[in-house]
Amino acid sequence: MANFICFVSLGPGEPELITLKGWKALQQSDAIFCPATRTKAGDVVSRAAEIVRALQIDEKKIRTFVLPMRKEREEALQVYEQLLRDVKQLHSEGRQVAITAEGDAGFYTSIQYIYGKLEAEQLPIRRIAGIPAFIAAGAAGGLHIVKQEERLVVIPGTATADELDKYLSGNYTIVIMKLSACVDAVHQCIARHPDAEFHYFENVGTPNEYYTSDWDVIGNKSFPYFSLIIIQKA
Ligand code: SAH
Repeated sequence: MANFICFVSLGPGEPELITLKGWKALQQSDAIFCPATRTKAGDVVSRAAEIVRALQIDEKKIRTFVLPMRKEREEALQVYEQLLRDVKQLHSEGRQVAITAEGDAGFYTSIQYIYGKLEAEQLPIRRIAGIPAFIAAGAAGGLHIVKQEERLVVIPGTATADELDKYLSGNYTIVIMKLSACVDAVHQCIARHPDAEFHYFENVGTPNEYYTSDWDVIGNKSFPYFSLIIIQKA
């Protein structure tokens, strides 16, 4: 069997929401690279690694790579370059390598940088699809994200209140990822559109999952990194 470097989507957080194919790829891997962050207290935390552990994969296979939280591009590039060297080394030794990402590995993930580099070097890669967080959120909140003639737009936290106005008037359901970056835009949108529905989710698929559609609550809270909102016309 050809030895692929495999990008494995882990799903939104609940270990059972990985695909069977993704799980098998983890079982067959010799090394599993998981993105991690460092807390203010200096601890390395990795949701990806936690999912892998919960799937009863041998702990010894897990290797974390710590990404800087803020947009320190230089620092991040160094981390990616080191990861790239490690992956290529293991691959050249004939080891099965997996690189993981939460949600779907091709949907707003930082590892696309590594993917592009490996692809450019014509190394054998493949990617296993996964459930993105907003799809899991829809299920958790009992929503039909789009129905009939509705359209869907997924935007990152760079959204502005004017942009949200435009989409809402155009029959779009709006999904905003990386919500912590656009708190004001969301609060303004709530004030401008009392007729719309706001479905706010935090930590979907984890023990800290939180969901509310209460405007007052959403309009007065700050948003952590693992949060998203789905805005629909009522
Ligand atoms: N690849 C991921 C997205 C990564 S971008 C996917 O397919 O879903 C990171 C953003 O995804 C976060 O800022 C947040 O908006 C969202 N996100 C990821 N996991 C989440 C979760 N469990 N609950 C709520 N939002 C989540």
